[in-house]
Amino acid sequence: MYFPMPSEPTALRRPTLHKIADLVRAGLVAPEDLAGLERVAETYSVALTPAVLDLIDPTDAADPIARQYVPHVAELSTGTEELSDPIGDAAYSPVKGIVHRYPDRVLLTPLLVCPVYCRFCFRRARVGDAEASLTEAELDAALAYVAGRPEVREVILTGGDPLMLPPRRLQSLIGRIAALDQIELIRIHSRIPVSDPGRVSSALVAALKPADEADVAVWLAVHVNHPRELSPLARGALARLADAGLPLLSQTVLLKDVNDSVEILDQLMRALVRNRVRPYYLHHPDLAPGTAHFRPSLAEGRALMAALRGRLSGIAQPTYVLDIPGGAGKVPVGPEYWDENRGEITDPGGRIHPYPGD
Ligand SMILES: *Cc1c(COP(=O)(O)O)cnc(C)c1O
Ligand code: SF4
Repeated sequence: MYFPMPSEPTALRRPTLHKIADLVRAGLVAPEDLAGLERVAETYSVALTPAVLDLIDPTDAADPIARQYVPHVAELSTGTEELSDPIGDAAYSPVKGIVHRYPDRVLLTPLLVCPVYCRFCFRRARVGDAEASLTEAELDAALAYVAGRPEVREVILTGGDPLMLPPRRLQSLIGRIAALDQIELIRIHSRIPVSDPGRVSSALVAALKPADEADVAVWLAVHVNHPRELSPLARGALARLADAGLPLLSQTVLLKDVNDSVEILDQLMRALVRNRVRPYYLHHPDLAPGTAHFRPSLAEGRALMAALRGRLSGIAQPTYVLDIPGGAGKVPVGPEYWDENRGEITDPGGRIHPYPGD
């Protein structure tokens, strides 16, 4: 099917690929894998935008961008530890479209569609369903829930990708949230600056800026996993957002054979800071179904974080976090530097010093 990108000039419009047969034609999937991958696509949505396709080298079987988006037969194997709702969203959802796990902040998911579908997505069992978008009445109910909770200070728009909303709808939604008395902060989680940077039009950027009289800040957290994702188009999108005054954060998922190396994480974090994005979280991958081939061990993740400490500017250091299965929340998983029992502290170079604490 042909989905023109509204923000691109007509001459540049190319289709997003959804069908495995299209991926075969693009040289991203071997013809003999067609049938197996069509089974994957029956369960998990597939989409690669032109911007993402341009980043892939089809001659490289280990291409780290392809690995994030091109389906793999390993997705058909669901491990016994894996969960369709790995971080327990459903258990903490008081009304459709809201997840309320922490007292002071809620997630609001206006839609569950994205321009691309990441093979490791923690909501992979749910994303891609256009029918799951909130209706006007459902959105009213979700906002009424927030309005009735004075302890909620922050609304986090997530999805799906909330920047899929047309700018006028996004502006209206942000305006309605900002109008709630107790709300101080609106946070938007999006992969669009890298997955479909052409959508970050001046109309979209303007829609993200709350009215001057609204007493809220809008922050944007961008999902980026590999330094090559920060293409000239993506950097341009980030620059437009930063120039508009939005504080930018990043989230990175630690993925086997994509970014589980010190060199790649070093390049990525440096490139983020260089583009005015403050690294926020490095996520240990959630136990989403059919994603075991993406998960490094926690020990590997800690060793990578330890290697970044001292090597990179403090402002380029993300926090390594795990979302506890079932919905108990996110916690940092190290590494730890102070050993309380031994009364010792490890420096960034790995040398140990006495430090009893008190
Ligand atoms: C991840 C998440 C948040 C945001 O957590 P922060 O640590 O503030 O980034 C909020 N609510 C829910 C339900 C979450 O899963
Ligand atoms: S962009 Fe985010 S929500 Fe969409 S598929 Fe990727 S990880 Fe999932």
